[in-house]
Amino acid sequence: TTVLEQGNISIHTENIFPIIKKWLYSDHEIFIRELVSNAVDAISKLSMLSRSGEFSGELTPEIQLQIDKDAKTLSITDNGIGMTAEEIKQYINQVAFSSAEEFITKYKDSTDQQIIGHFGLGFYSSFMVADRVDIDTLSYQEAATPVHWSCDGTTEFQLSESARTERGTTITLHLMDDEQEYLEPGRIRQLIKTYCDFMPVPIQLDGEVINKQEAPWKQSPSSLEDSDYLELYRYLYPFEEEPLLWVHLNTDYPFVVNGILYFPKLKPDVDVNKGQIKLFCNQVFVSENCEEIIPRFLMPLRGVIDSTDIPLNVSRSFLQNDRTVRRIADYIAKKVGDRLKELYRDSQADYIRCWQDLGTFVKFGSLNDDKFKQQVKDYVIFRTTADLGQTDTPKVEVQQGEDDAWAEADSPQVATDANGAFYTTLKDYLERNQGKHENRVYYATDEVSQATYIQLHQSQGLEVLFMDSFIDTHFVSFLESEYSDVKFLRVDSDLDQTLIDADKSSEIVDSATNKTRSEQVKELFEKALKRPQVTIRTEALKANDQSAPPAMVLLPEEIRRMQE
Ligand code: ADP
Ligand code: MG
Repeated sequence: TTVLEQGNISIHTENIFPIIKKWLYSDHEIFIRELVSNAVDAISKLSMLSRSGEFSGELTPEIQLQIDKDAKTLSITDNGIGMTAEEIKQYINQVAFSSAEEFITKYKDSTDQQIIGHFGLGFYSSFMVADRVDIDTLSYQEAATPVHWSCDGTTEFQLSESARTERGTTITLHLMDDEQEYLEPGRIRQLIKTYCDFMPVPIQLDGEVINKQEAPWKQSPSSLEDSDYLELYRYLYPFEEEPLLWVHLNTDYPFVVNGILYFPKLKPDVDVNKGQIKLFCNQVFVSENCEEIIPRFLMPLRGVIDSTDIPLNVSRSFLQNDRTVRRIADYIAKKVGDRLKELYRDSQADYIRCWQDLGTFVKFGSLNDDKFKQQVKDYVIFRTTADLGQTDTPKVEVQQGEDDAWAEADSPQVATDANGAFYTTLKDYLERNQGKHENRVYYATDEVSQATYIQLHQSQGLEVLFMDSFIDTHFVSFLESEYSDVKFLRVDSDLDQTLIDADKSSEIVDSATNKTRSEQVKELFEKALKRPQVTIRTEALKANDQSAPPAMVLLPEEIRRMQE
C-alpha cells in the first residue's frame, strides 16, 4: 500500500493518551457508545444528503460489529458518509483530537469524577481500550479514494491508501491485554443494550440485530397508544408493577426535550435521592440518574429524558447552576403538574384510584417546589368520613370529554375509591361545612387507633378528613402555614371545646353513675385525651339558632363503648 502521509498529531498537552487511558478507569466501556454514535451520525449525515438530493446512491442504514478473537480486535463498520484523506486529517487528527484534548485539559486535574456520562470524549475514547486503532474508510463522494489511518496511541499516525470497495467506515480496535472482555459477544450485547438500544439504526452482531431501535419518546404522542407506553415501561423496568400514569414530554422550543415519565406505585421506603430516570442524548444512553436535571421532588418518577440541550461534558455541580438546565427542570415539573390536572378533570375515578401513590408525590412536590404547589393545590384531595353521595346537593353529571366540566360544576363533587370511600378537596370541605364551623378542619392520622374519636366527631355531625399517609405528618404542618386562617384539629388531641355543648339532656342525672350527662362527657374526653383541662360549655343552644354550632350529643351506646 502507498503511504500517503506519515505525520504527527499536533499536540498542546504533552500526551493525552496516557491520560485518556487512566483517567476514566471505571468507565472504559463508554468507547462503544462513542464509536457507535459516530457510526449513527455518519449514516444520518448521508441520509440528509440523500434527502437533499446530493446523494442518490442506495442507503440501507446498518452498523456491523465484528469480533476477531485470534486477532484480538473489535471492529465497528457503518455504511454512512465515509471520509476522504483530507477529512480524516481534519476530523480525526485535528477536530477529534482537539476536542479530546480540550476535554482532558479541563478535567485532568479535577477531582470531580462526576462528569455526566463522560460525554464528549468522542473518537479518542477508543484509546482507553485499544493500543492501536485503524480506520478504514471510503467516502460517498464520487471517485473518492479509500483510505486507511492507523495510530498506536502515541501522537504519530499513518495514512495510506486502502483496498476498501464499500462506502462507509470501519473502526478496528486492537484491544489491550487487560481489555479482552470486549472480545466476548455477551459483553458487547450487554453494552449495546445499555448504551445503543434505542439508536435508530440496526446494529448487528453475528448476523443478528441486537438493538431495539425505536425510541417511542421521539414519536408524537398522538401516534402512540397506551399499550406502547406500557410496553416501553415493561421493557425499561421489567420486574416492576405497572405504572399509574405517564407524561409525554415533547418540545422543540426554546429547548429540545423529549421523554416519557412514568409515575410508579410508590413504596413508603422510596429513596427520593436515587433517581431512576434514564438520561439520553439523541437516543444515546448517557446516565442512569439525572438528579441535577429534574427537580428533586420528581425523583420518584421513572422513564426517559432525552435532550441535546443539556450540556453533558460538564461537571454535575456546573449542571445544577446552568440556566437552560433549570428551565428544562421547570418545564418538566410544569408538564407533570398539567398531567395531574388533566387526570383530575378528565377521569376523576382514575385520579382517586391512583391517589394513594399520586398523593405522596403531589404532597412531596408541594412541600418542595413553590411553583408546583401553586399548580396542584386545587387537586390535593383527602379521604373523608362524609357520605358525599347522600348530600342534598344534586350529583354532578360529568360529561365525558367536556373540558372543565369539573371546574365549572359548583356543587360538591362526588368521588369514591374502590372501597366506596369519598374524597374531597380542602376547599370543598370548608365550603360544605361552613354552616357548622368556620375555618376548621378535623382530621385523623390513624383510622384504627383513632376510631373512637372519629366516631365521636361523626356522631356530632362533624366531617373528618384522613391525613394518614406517611408524608401527611409534614403535610399537615405545611397546610397549617398555607391556610393560616384555618385551624387544623386532630381528632384525638385537639378537641374543639366550642363544639362540646351540652344540650338540654346534659343536666339529666344518670341513675347508674349518678353523674350528669355533661359530667360524663367531660370525664370521657379527659380520659380520652389524658388531659384534664377539657371544659364544656353548658349554656344550652336555642333550638332554632342556625348560626350557632351544633350541640355535641353523645348517644348512650357511644358513651358505653368509650367507657369499656
Ligand atoms: P464528534 O462526534 O463529537 O464530532 P468525535 O471525536 O466522536 O467527535 O468524532 C470526530 C469526527 O470524526 C466526527 O465529527 C466525524 O466527522 C468524524 N468521524 C468519526 N467517526 C466517523 C465515522 N464512522 N464516519 C464518518 N466520520 C466519522
Ligand atoms: Mg462522536
